[in-house]
Amino acid sequence: MVKQVAVIGGGMGGLSGAIRLARMGFKVFLYEKNEMLGGKMGRIQEEGFTFDTGPTLLTMPFIIEELFQFVDSHMTDKIQLAPIDPVCRYFFNDTEPFDASSDIEIMNQNINQLFHGESENYIRFLRYAERIYKKTSPLFIFSPIHEIRINLFWQYIKNVFTLYQIDPLRTVHQSVKRYFQDPRLIQLFDRYATYNGSDPYRAPATLNVIPYVELGLGGYYIKGGLYRLVEILVEIAEKHNVHIHTGKKVERILHDNHRVKGVQIDGEKMNTDIVLCNGDVVVCFNDLIKGFSKTTNRLNRLEPSLSGMIFFWGIQGCYSQLKQHNIIFSQNYKKEFTQLFQDQIPPDDPTVYISISSKQDHHHAPEGCENWFVMINMPYLYNDSKAETWQIEQIRHTILQKLKRYDLDIEKKIQFERTITPQDIAAQFYSNHGSIYGISSNTIRSAFKRPSNRNRQLRGLYFAGGSAHPGGGVPMCMLSGKFAAELINEFEGN
Ligand SMILES: Cc1cc2nc3c(=O)[nH]c(=O)nc-3n(C[C@H](O)[C@H](O)[C@H](O)COP(=O)(O)OP(=O)(O)OC[C@H]3O[C@@H](n4cnc5c(N)ncnc54)[C@H](O)[C@@H]3O)c2cc1C
Repeated sequence: MVKQVAVIGGGMGGLSGAIRLARMGFKVFLYEKNEMLGGKMGRIQEEGFTFDTGPTLLTMPFIIEELFQFVDSHMTDKIQLAPIDPVCRYFFNDTEPFDASSDIEIMNQNINQLFHGESENYIRFLRYAERIYKKTSPLFIFSPIHEIRINLFWQYIKNVFTLYQIDPLRTVHQSVKRYFQDPRLIQLFDRYATYNGSDPYRAPATLNVIPYVELGLGGYYIKGGLYRLVEILVEIAEKHNVHIHTGKKVERILHDNHRVKGVQIDGEKMNTDIVLCNGDVVVCFNDLIKGFSKTTNRLNRLEPSLSGMIFFWGIQGCYSQLKQHNIIFSQNYKKEFTQLFQDQIPPDDPTVYISISSKQDHHHAPEGCENWFVMINMPYLYNDSKAETWQIEQIRHTILQKLKRYDLDIEKKIQFERTITPQDIAAQFYSNHGSIYGISSNTIRSAFKRPSNRNRQLRGLYFAGGSAHPGGGVPMCMLSGKFAAELINEFEGN
């Protein structure tokens, strides 16, 4: 008999897992509580403006290509990738902006112009980051690490240990500082720790793999907007008979005798052999599963990743001093992270990220206008029940004042506006404390503590998504869907 799988959530991990499972011959039911699929990878289309509401930059597109090949298709037949160059324009206090490029020659030229004599350092840093990628990715990214048999694991680690090569004992900041002299470049490379919501002053330097992924392997945009990827994946899922139900919240994961039995939706039981949860693992154990208090307590102790506040501004006018991706740094980066993680307050001088897809997709804004996605890092919510209300108006004012100092006096030019707060992220996607990337990678043990794709306590329960291995970000979540599907096929196969 064909086995049935209930997939909880239609984010990237859920869609990627559902497609693979359907292709493997399982009967797949996907339940998404929202009307829109894609989870954090969303879209707003209003008043002539189009915004991607989550991811704005794609890395490692070969992971997506691999999913397309799995269903006998090709990514390039379905979506058009556009390399982003410069990958990002960085603004530092009172100095010329700096354009980071994945073209090594252009990058060197740009570095030499603004940071005299540092291009050699960049080459050394990129080589070091590439080495970490090559040493760590087979185990920590491209395999379901919790499934590696212990002797194989130690064999691998023994080789890797040439330990110093993956640099786990220093922090991101400590290692970046060893390569660069100029504090602006140090700040620039420290920032990559935030790509999975972590703190560069605490996260292990192994995370210096991230600049290699972006600058060494390249950063991409999807023509039409990143949400195109969701649309295409939904199309593929439907073609492979994934039964997709939106507006359906799973209330419980049913189990008996340490084996899942199905899910409960609208008070009704839906029997399935397997459950693949794309929702946050911590939230899942707190809200959907009864009777595992020890695991729940352990999960509750893990530190969530950063959250964020995003303003979507439709702006009258075009600003040639900005590129598609821009960062305006804070003056005191250490203080920013102390406020985010220790003081647990919004930073008083936040680093501001501005992404403008209409620079590339002109139809994303009416003529003579631009669509600004403006984001700052925010602390994860400390006590959801207290329902902290961040001072949206105050933060908006701070950002607008900061932009003014960079000749971007846009307040009166805003003709369309929407906001996403940490509370929205928690409520819309059931993410743990409003975190964007699951748990933070602020300690050396984080990669091992991140929940596994196959649950060992409840047979038939699997996880895919940013809160499970290998972590947050579009390519990682898609990989987690792959790992979960492969494990389901191995352990529960028809
Ligand atoms: C503002 C922002 C910017 C980002 N920028 C980037 C970027 O540039 N590049 C990048 O790679 N990544 C970026 N990310 C991260 C990326 O979006 C996420 O890591 C990824 O999309 C998360 O996918 P996921 O599989 O974890 O699922 P999620 O997106 O978390 O989706 C899970 C889904 O499950 C549903 N769900 C949960 N519980 C239930 C339930 N009980 N019943 C039914 N449905 C349920 C939720 O509604 C949700 O739709 C960004 C994220 C945000 C928010």
